[in-house]
Amino acid sequence: MTVSRLKKAGKSIGFVPTMGALHQGHLSLLNCCRSQNNMTVASIFVNPTQFNNPDDYACYPRTPESDLEMLRNSGCDIVFLPDEHEMYPAPDNRMFDLGGLDKVMEGLYRPGHFNGVAMIITRLFDLIMPHRVYLGQKDFQQVAVIRKLIHAFTYPTEVVVCPTVREADGLAMSSRNRLLNAEQRKHAAEIYKVMSQARTLAATSTVERIREFVISTLNNDPYLSVEYFELVDDVNLMPVSDFGIKTGVVGCIAVKVGKVRLIDNMFFSS
Ligand code: AMP
Repeated sequence: MTVSRLKKAGKSIGFVPTMGALHQGHLSLLNCCRSQNNMTVASIFVNPTQFNNPDDYACYPRTPESDLEMLRNSGCDIVFLPDEHEMYPAPDNRMFDLGGLDKVMEGLYRPGHFNGVAMIITRLFDLIMPHRVYLGQKDFQQVAVIRKLIHAFTYPTEVVVCPTVREADGLAMSSRNRLLNAEQRKHAAEIYKVMSQARTLAATSTVERIREFVISTLNNDPYLSVEYFELVDDVNLMPVSDFGIKTGVVGCIAVKVGKVRLIDNMFFSS
């Protein structure tokens, strides 16, 4: 049955968009989706338009066979595994107004990234029109951008944000973790460790000192190089000057571990 028929038959459709190389983080989204909807749809597509760096696109892990096996075992009902031509039969030149959410943090270091995310998400939503979409807090800025798109295009879709799933040592699970060698993998755990320490210190410190602490401590590790660490308002993603604001404060970070770029975030106050 097609998704539109299922909808006509009154079934609720939950959607989990992914780029594959699936791990427990993705599975947590699928499990949540299954528990809240009649039908769970997952997509696997390594979207070229959201990669600003061709090497990153070329090296992005692709494991379709084990992905399909995991999806089968997790009770996913429908898997959408399009090829590039299917998603982009003609060049897509749309430019999205993302209200500045795309200009900070990831947007500064990955120019055009969120415009590419907007291209693929609108295409997937136009096809699937899910009742709910399941997104990971791991990609905090992406969640804000997708909320903005849903609002701008009046998609009838509710956003469900699922907590970041971590390895035993705290490293946020990511498809890119499999690109790390054993030494790099060990050092990558510092990201979560130092952010957690900073969160504790924040009770008696200032935003500026916390930023300095995180950036300098991580940069002291020869395996790590911080691209940015920002403490931002969880709604508009603008940097905060103190921890006392009414909305939440989120610490967002991007770190290069060798050539591998990892991101993470955590709430410092909510
Ligand atoms: P990706 O395949 O990396 O594009 O991620 C697909 C979805 O899975 C996005 O909504 C991510 O935020 C989410 N995701 C990725 N890693 C994690 C994680 N460690 N915990 C929870 N969700 C995640």
